[in-house]
Amino acid sequence: MVEIKSDASLDAMRAAGRVVAQALAAVREAAAVGVPLRALDETARAALRAAGAGSPFLDYHPHWAPTPFPAVICASVNDAIVHGIPGSYRLADGDLVSIDCGAVLDGWVGDSAVSFTVGRARPDDLRLIDTSYEALAAGIAAARVGNRIGDIAHAVGRVCRAAGYGIPTGFGGHGVGRTMHEDPGVPNEGRPGRGLLLRHGMVLAIEPMVTSSGTDRSFTARDGWTLRTLDASRAAHTEHTVAITDDGPRILTEL
Ligand code: MG
Ligand code: MG
Repeated sequence: MVEIKSDASLDAMRAAGRVVAQALAAVREAAAVGVPLRALDETARAALRAAGAGSPFLDYHPHWAPTPFPAVICASVNDAIVHGIPGSYRLADGDLVSIDCGAVLDGWVGDSAVSFTVGRARPDDLRLIDTSYEALAAGIAAARVGNRIGDIAHAVGRVCRAAGYGIPTGFGGHGVGRTMHEDPGVPNEGRPGRGLLLRHGMVLAIEPMVTSSGTDRSFTARDGWTLRTLDASRAAHTEHTVAITDDGPRILTEL
């Protein structure tokens, strides 16, 4: 079932989304060559705590995972696409990092992700990251009353494919509300004019994932969580939580 949020609820979700943006900004500031991923998780925990927010990631335990998720961010480096566990790995020169973070404030969830490099960036990585943000922007622009889910999916997918990149099969965005994952699913590729009609008060996480080699194939690593590209090519992942409104798309997870 797709929940329609009241305007007051959208304002409450905006507050939760701002906390996510603050946490991600702090993580990005802290990320540098030599910094362990675990330290980035500590940075995000401190930001959530300072805002009086909880984490929808911590102890999240979907049916397919062997263990509850142990952190408040996902940290996915290089060939990791999403769901990386922030552990003892220390960031190295030229790493491509994707950080996904959520917050729960007053019972409402925000969900957002950023991709960036540390140290001396590879030009190919910068192009991959830029394309991921372009796809996100295209998806958000299509998140309009009267459009359909397929219009968002098509907008995201077209940007990724036009750049020659792959789109991991089976992963995409979702509705957001009092829980992190609600209906509807928001695929990263699709046909325009198809699927659920978008209405004022729907809230969607739009989250392009792109692979540099063009592969759509991925696998879950032995930790049971980290999704990696099958051919070890690099990946980027960006995300915003967006409200569909009569005034156009409202990004809830910006600063
Ligand atoms: Mg996310
Ligand atoms: Mg999400």
